[in-house]
Amino acid sequence: MSPFKDLTASSPNDFLFNLPPLPMDEKGLAQAFQHYYAYTFGSDPECRSTYYPYKALAIAVRDRLMERWKRTHLACDRSGCRQTYYLSLEFLMGRALSNGLLNLGITDVVRRSLYDMGLVLEEIETAEMDAGLGNGGLGRLAACFLDSCATLQLPVKGYGLRYEYGMFRQLLDDGYQIEEPDHWLRDGNPWELERPEYTQRIRFGGRTENYQDQHGRIHRRWVETHDVLAVPYDIPVPGYRNDTINTLRLWSAEATDEFNLGEFNAGSYPESVAAKNDAEHITMVLYPNDANECGKELRLRQQYFLASASIKDVMREWIRVHGRDFSQFAEKNCFQLNDTHPAISVPELMRQLLDDHYLEWDEAWKITSQTMAYTNHTLLPEALERWPVRIFRQLLPRLLEIIYEINARFLSQVAAHWPGDMDRQRRMSLIEEGDDPQVRMAYLALVGSFSVNGVAALHSELLKSGLFRDFYELWPEKFNNKTNGVTPRRWLAMCNPGLRDLLNEVIGTDWVNDLTQLAQLAPYAEDAHFRHRWDVIKRANKERVAAMVATTCQVEFPLDALFDVQVKRIHEYKRQLLNILHVIHLYNRLKQGHRGTDIPRCVLIGGKAAPGYEMAKLIIKLINNVAVVVNADPVVNPWLRVAFIPDYRVSVMEILAPGTDLSEQISTAGKEASGTGNMKFMMNGAVTIGTLDGANIEIRQHVGDDNFFLFGLTAEQVEHTRHHYDPNHIIANTPALRDVLHLLESGHFNQFEQGIFNPIIRGIRDPHDPWLTAADFESYCHAQERAASAFQDRDHWLRMSILNTASSGYFSADRTIAEYNRDIWRLTPIAPTAS
Ligand SMILES: *Cc1c(COP(=O)(O)O)cnc(C)c1O
Repeated sequence: MSPFKDLTASSPNDFLFNLPPLPMDEKGLAQAFQHYYAYTFGSDPECRSTYYPYKALAIAVRDRLMERWKRTHLACDRSGCRQTYYLSLEFLMGRALSNGLLNLGITDVVRRSLYDMGLVLEEIETAEMDAGLGNGGLGRLAACFLDSCATLQLPVKGYGLRYEYGMFRQLLDDGYQIEEPDHWLRDGNPWELERPEYTQRIRFGGRTENYQDQHGRIHRRWVETHDVLAVPYDIPVPGYRNDTINTLRLWSAEATDEFNLGEFNAGSYPESVAAKNDAEHITMVLYPNDANECGKELRLRQQYFLASASIKDVMREWIRVHGRDFSQFAEKNCFQLNDTHPAISVPELMRQLLDDHYLEWDEAWKITSQTMAYTNHTLLPEALERWPVRIFRQLLPRLLEIIYEINARFLSQVAAHWPGDMDRQRRMSLIEEGDDPQVRMAYLALVGSFSVNGVAALHSELLKSGLFRDFYELWPEKFNNKTNGVTPRRWLAMCNPGLRDLLNEVIGTDWVNDLTQLAQLAPYAEDAHFRHRWDVIKRANKERVAAMVATTCQVEFPLDALFDVQVKRIHEYKRQLLNILHVIHLYNRLKQGHRGTDIPRCVLIGGKAAPGYEMAKLIIKLINNVAVVVNADPVVNPWLRVAFIPDYRVSVMEILAPGTDLSEQISTAGKEASGTGNMKFMMNGAVTIGTLDGANIEIRQHVGDDNFFLFGLTAEQVEHTRHHYDPNHIIANTPALRDVLHLLESGHFNQFEQGIFNPIIRGIRDPHDPWLTAADFESYCHAQERAASAFQDRDHWLRMSILNTASSGYFSADRTIAEYNRDIWRLTPIAPTAS
């Protein structure tokens, strides 16, 4: 039974769907806010919590997104346009309120309207929890891409998982990392809309068998499965002042009714409740491993759950419009795979086309391999996902059959291309043979995709010459580069209001949509008055950093000091260790009475370590121990302060990027695929000290050698050095490093914790140290000296700072997305239907 009297689709109920636009003025927004505050949340006059004002404002903003959201959807639906689906296990979205206000263009109106009611917008915004459904760069990239897609009005939908617990919260206890669960949904999420009507059924386990249809055709089917429901929750993704609202659809796992009824009544009530919990565990928690394979069955469940639900969702829509005619499917649909995490989409799309829609193999393969596109994010071999065939067989038996078939056909192609080259076949096989055979997910993605891209120029080249060399020789035309970018809305206009206003005044407002406009700033680097204004803004931003560091770390950062910041996941290849060794070196020199070119310097380091990554956690402890010694020493602390900022996340970066002078991008060359933190800092006028790695290379090309502090071995030199690396020889012949090692080995930073840093010391002295810390130490110290003396010349530094912002236009995610669209997606922008 439907409550609607008139069911014809062509005459939707005007009272429900053709509403007048909601007011966007001060008065109308105030009324909406008051309504939700007083009636929906029923807050009483004594309440002083920031939480209810946040909720009331969020709902008022959501209403205004909603009306535009429907029109965007309608325009896309009517045009029958080609669409892209961005499949990612991670979306590190951060806060939505301030972004929604900015993109709707109502920040100032709302601020005034709240102020008249005695409320401060900036305070209300801090009540929002970060949506932390990602580990780091890869997840944040997905979030920046969604923003750019909506801003460019491209029909791109994000698909991900609605984890109950996002990235863990990091606390410190005696300098050690403590992980606490992030129950971000506890107080409700005003930005999501549950869509139970689009629930999908996802299968696991069971076995496969043949059967004959009524025409005598033999098919394969997957039976006796344990099914789980995928319930979608939609999150609006607003474009910048263009009325486009795209969708991020996140799947949540729920038990099927069979759990609730059948098995419950079979007499095994407790076991059934446990089974129900098992099903719902799939989307319970985000795996906190950045750039590291984990190989746990639950993780494969998550990956398949996302892939299957998302592809079924696209299929449902396809069939609604086109019926069972798939001839145009590849022309109208594209799946972009964010790393190998959703690579199981390749055999899953095959499975649905073969088993659910009865296509022949060749036809299904043609569609699949012209629909999938794969982005690689790492060169670290330990991060390349492989799944034991054994786990596949019991969890996804039908998918394994399809993977074997894909592999057999692929290997015969390899054999035809390189007759008799058995070694090549073994190397390229989707199955790595051995005692416990593994499915190589990167190869599955490569074979099943029409496009394979790296995320910075160097990275894409290294893929072709290293990791994927065989595949490049077979299919050179598949390979391309898409240098990463970040959204200038969140990472400049929103997080740096002082600089935003200055830019608007001096070069107009077009830069928000066309970041190359920032180049107009370059001549102002020579304008003393402009430099002064730049300085004032930077100082105010440093004040915000200092305030945050004072409250969270109890360390005072003087504003005249060089703010030297390294925030990113803690990983050996990112070399936070090199940074802290330099800090120890500075400490040592100060203790010895040297001053030299030194200027006061505040070193801030932040980032989470994967809970099982012992070395990364030990590096956090070392940073904290060094901080305690340095900050407590009255001889040293006028010149040097050190702090570790706990729980680094998007909302913390929004404060740090604008208030940083020196951006640390010091990975071992050839290891950081791109980096995006480097771009956020550059946009906000920080100068980079960095190696020739990832996008640093392109940053340096754009800003010029004079405005970048370069050091260290190149990727090529790194590979060459490995063969004859002798760190102990380097240490013995580098007095500064010898002294640092001596202090560390004497236990100076762990007086009452004997030997705790021995694993770190051993790593530095190990000839097989993959990160070549000792090799780059001296070069790093020299670059730091150049940075320090440049900072002493205030005007010189300000010029560099201005030129960094002025040259950052290329690193807009709008440019990246325009390239994805030109080369891979080929979508036509669509404006939302008029109201
Ligand atoms: C940008 C960003 C990252 C990525 O930083 P890298 O320096 O590129 O590793 C990680 N985490 C957060 C919260 C970010 O905003």
